[in-house]
Amino acid sequence: MRQKIIAGNWKMNGTIAETERLIKDLLEGSSKNEKATVVICPPFTSLYVAGKLLQGSQIALGAQDMSEYQRGAYTGEVAADMLLTLGVQYVILGHSERRRYHAENDRLVNAKAMTAHAAGLIPIICVGETLQHSEKGQTEQVVSQQVDGALVGLSSDLIAKTVIAYEPVWAIGTGKTATPEMAQTVHRFIREKVATVDKEVAQTLPILYGGSVKPDNAVGLLSQPDIDGALVGGASLKAAEFSQIINAV
Ligand code: PEP
Repeated sequence: MRQKIIAGNWKMNGTIAETERLIKDLLEGSSKNEKATVVICPPFTSLYVAGKLLQGSQIALGAQDMSEYQRGAYTGEVAADMLLTLGVQYVILGHSERRRYHAENDRLVNAKAMTAHAAGLIPIICVGETLQHSEKGQTEQVVSQQVDGALVGLSSDLIAKTVIAYEPVWAIGTGKTATPEMAQTVHRFIREKVATVDKEVAQTLPILYGGSVKPDNAVGLLSQPDIDGALVGGASLKAAEFSQIINAV
């Protein structure tokens, strides 16, 4: 059975006080489901506090990005080992907002994935087509290129320790979601693609869906055979909604 993961991407939300409140609400609420690994990814400035609050809990900590480099003159960047010391286990890489606003490309995502693995962090690599690509029928072409670009040079052992998140860009923060069937088709495509590199690894690789996942659409999405969890933005900022999504697994 594949690992099920529900990850919350807080994006640029959460002062220290807000982080403390949301984590307390999650820990006191029903944000536990033994069938799922739960991960929250607050902004860098909240990771220290989040790490302390989550110690000994069943919620794992993730970061939203990191540098491809290990140390040096890279103003504003955060290195993998800095994240590790805060208790971070996962790192989101290549989110469409990083690709769009910071011009991140597949080469960079791949370099960051290598760095993350070298440090022992689990990368959650985001791929997904824009509305324009989708309308032109280029979804598979774009996703294929992004998956290839992100995984190039990674051994099967490292791909086995990677998570992929399929997030159609047109569904992120828009309230529009791919139907479970549409999402399943792309998830299956990604798994078959990885199978051309390593069949066994493809069977165990968690592929998450992201894009306006809410309590009312989570069950439909998560019941698809190749959807192994969700990367949740907006709804992860509300403890009750996030818990309902966790319990949809
Ligand atoms: C995301 O940020 O990865 C995301 C999927 O956001 P939302 O759930 O708000 O669409």
